[in-house]
Amino acid sequence: MSERIQQLCVELSLNAVATHYANLADEAAHKERSFVEYLEQVLDVEAALRAERSREVLRRLAGFPSVKTIEQFDFEAGAGAPKARIQELTGLAFVERRENVILLGPSGTGKTHLAIALGVKATERGYKVRFITAADLVIQLEKARREHRFDQYLKRAILGPSLLILDEIGYLPLKKDQSDLFFQVVAKRYEHGSVILTSNLSFGDWETTFDGNAALTSAMLDRLLHHAHVLQIRGDSYRLRQARQSGLIGPKPSKQEINGANQVGQ
Ligand code: ADP
Ligand code: MG
Repeated sequence: MSERIQQLCVELSLNAVATHYANLADEAAHKERSFVEYLEQVLDVEAALRAERSREVLRRLAGFPSVKTIEQFDFEAGAGAPKARIQELTGLAFVERRENVILLGPSGTGKTHLAIALGVKATERGYKVRFITAADLVIQLEKARREHRFDQYLKRAILGPSLLILDEIGYLPLKKDQSDLFFQVVAKRYEHGSVILTSNLSFGDWETTFDGNAALTSAMLDRLLHHAHVLQIRGDSYRLRQARQSGLIGPKPSKQEINGANQVGQ
């Protein structure tokens, strides 16, 4: 009989049932569970396995550079990240409401970490997520256009995910043409789905990244900020702080020392 069960499980792709039905049957006999209770247990293990698989697939498809979680985030370090607001975002109502999250702050303060952590949470909830740096996005947009599949790319990669994470706006200045492409992404996503965006630049400096185009930058910010949670993260680089604490590098220079160095450089 068990051979027949194994065979049917293969045919019906019931992997967890194949693994657990016998143990659960023994347990059910021992604990005098009803047939209906047993069936429910067997179906439960199958459902749990499938849910885990689909979370894994979603996480892989998201293209996270590494997996980071909110639990790993140290809110005490430098106290630079607004804890209550970030914890509220982990509820993911913003994804449901198609709102944006903008994480601003200096390099190394955990913007990418938080963006990934929110993204991972979203995949666990079954949302389709896509993580991409602004620089890679522009490369992909240019490639798609060159290969005459720009509209397809927009539809699949830009409109497809429920949550689009655009990392590192402002690290690389974009040329005019690239700025236009980037604008199209923001315009397409506007009121269509959530975007999480990270940048080391304050809004006033965004223009410098978009080829000095003030009109384009303000039209873009207008759309991004319409339904947005803007979080300013303060403080020093987490990595530098850790290196300093472990004595790998010297203490942070004082303001006077920095000013002194500037004067020498002038
Ligand atoms: P940013 O994107 O702001 O430049 P990252 O998110 O890449 O910074 O952070 C740099 C590194 O430091 C990452 O490995 C990240 O996990 C870690 N990190 C930054 N801030 C924190 C924090 N508050 N708690 C734990 N790890 C942190
Ligand atoms: Mg980053």
